[in-house]
Amino acid sequence: MLSKEYLHAERNQPWREALRKTMKNKERTDLPRVKMPEQPPEIRIHNFQEVNLGLTPELALAESHRCLDCVNPTCIMGCPVEVNIPKFIKNIERGEILEAAKTLKETNTLPAVCGRVCPQERQCESHCFYVQKLKKEAVAIGHLERFAADYEHESGNISIPETASTNEIKIAVVGSGPAGLAFAGDMAKLGYEVTVFEALHELGGVLRYGIPEFRLPNKIVDTEIEVLKKMGVKFETNCIIGKTISQEDLKEFGYKGIFIGSGAGFPNFMNIPGENLIGVMSANEYLTRVNLMRAADPDSDTPVHRGKKVAVIGGGNTAMDAVRTARRLGAEKAMIVYRRSEEEMPARIEEVKHAKEEGIEFLTLHNPLRYEGDEKGHVRKMLLQRMRLGEPDASGRRRPIPIEGDTVWIEVDEVIVSIGVSPNPLIPSTFTGLEVTPYGTIVIDEETMQTGVDYIFAGGDIVRGGATVILAMGDGRKAAKGMDAWLKKTL
Ligand SMILES: Cc1cc2nc3c(=O)[nH]c(=O)nc-3n(C[C@H](O)[C@H](O)[C@H](O)COP(=O)(O)OP(=O)(O)OC[C@H]3O[C@@H](n4cnc5c(N)ncnc54)[C@H](O)[C@@H]3O)c2cc1C
Repeated sequence: MLSKEYLHAERNQPWREALRKTMKNKERTDLPRVKMPEQPPEIRIHNFQEVNLGLTPELALAESHRCLDCVNPTCIMGCPVEVNIPKFIKNIERGEILEAAKTLKETNTLPAVCGRVCPQERQCESHCFYVQKLKKEAVAIGHLERFAADYEHESGNISIPETASTNEIKIAVVGSGPAGLAFAGDMAKLGYEVTVFEALHELGGVLRYGIPEFRLPNKIVDTEIEVLKKMGVKFETNCIIGKTISQEDLKEFGYKGIFIGSGAGFPNFMNIPGENLIGVMSANEYLTRVNLMRAADPDSDTPVHRGKKVAVIGGGNTAMDAVRTARRLGAEKAMIVYRRSEEEMPARIEEVKHAKEEGIEFLTLHNPLRYEGDEKGHVRKMLLQRMRLGEPDASGRRRPIPIEGDTVWIEVDEVIVSIGVSPNPLIPSTFTGLEVTPYGTIVIDEETMQTGVDYIFAGGDIVRGGATVILAMGDGRKAAKGMDAWLKKTL
């Protein structure tokens, strides 16, 4: 946690004092939250370009005035990587945008990514004074974060965080998703020689193969990874740890610590009749084929089926990404089938809003019972069970209960199943000594992220099951601190 002394000194900088005098708090709180400019729905459903267009400098300045520079900045407590939020927003208010980007990078390896995909409404923004005390809309922290990071990218004047001189201690990272990247960045800053091993041919984990370009362009991920490369982090692609290189090999190669950030890329299915029909697939397969294997290109060797009546089963971000991708690939009827109501949907509010604007149908309180196909084995219809909500379950959400005898058949020619993911079992099954839960996640010490094997630390979805980018990054940072302390004590 950023110390009280540090925050006090920051807040009392003379320039911040001067800024506070330029506008009264009442004037600031009367300002409306700015709106993110967007591509119009009727245009964007025909392309894969970003939907959100980013704030203009004028909009960013207007929004920066809303931040009250609170004495006790609770927003920071809502950020798992502890970005100094008031500081970077006040940088923007002073017109020091490159400085704002530097502030972000003090604790966040991927600010342009987080500014786009973080569920800010559940993290930093939900802790904002406006929400907590004034019952108004939060300062648009995510939009401002994206603005500062993009401004820096576009300026070409990209700052590289300082790194300590090398201590010649080699550290291996398994997986180049947000957990692995955040860990690698912090360890590089401390002077470690870090190599990230990635099974796929491209870097970024879900940021690359899961989240579509219309939410997170690949060039944003590339630019942020480039900074890590300049900090000295090495990357090896097409290298499956546990297969290409074993746990013993890593030790033999002289790696003194290993961080496992191998994610949860194993799709779950409902195990209902018809799931093996042609045209039924997991969201992971569908999105990976489109995003990573370019399966939507007409000249692709393995083109993806372009359904006209597409049902996506699930209510998370992955389901929204899949259904909006299907719409862009020509689906005339694209629908979300979700067994609870919209209120319980785990997807970001913005994704649900964008999906609706793009003409996606929402069949809430419906659950598939089975699929049926034609004589060629291609899915043609699905039987849905109508549901109602009962009492809250262990997750705190109201339990969906089938309404006896109330079912409906709906025609489909493609079904994308997006009901959650499980950890990939390769690392837990090939590494010796790791403790694994019945769900396949790796057991760690929550303070340090250290596993039962002292030189192995882990974080992100391999520890949490499916979670979020920022929680994975928070784990990566915590593990870097934990491993550094352990190595200093041990070596
Ligand atoms: C489609 C989709 C949309 C999402 N949208 C959002 C969103 O909007 N906001 C949000 O906060 N979260 C979102 N999430 C969740 C978020 O992306 C994940 O929680 C996050 O990426 C987890 O990070 P990670 O580093 O743990 O794992 P991952 O991102 O999964 O990265 C793990 C990496 O490890 C590699 N790997 C696995 N095994 C090995 C091995 N044996 N050797 C070498 N490499 C290996 C994998 O190839 C992968 O690249 C979304 C997830 C999906 C699938």
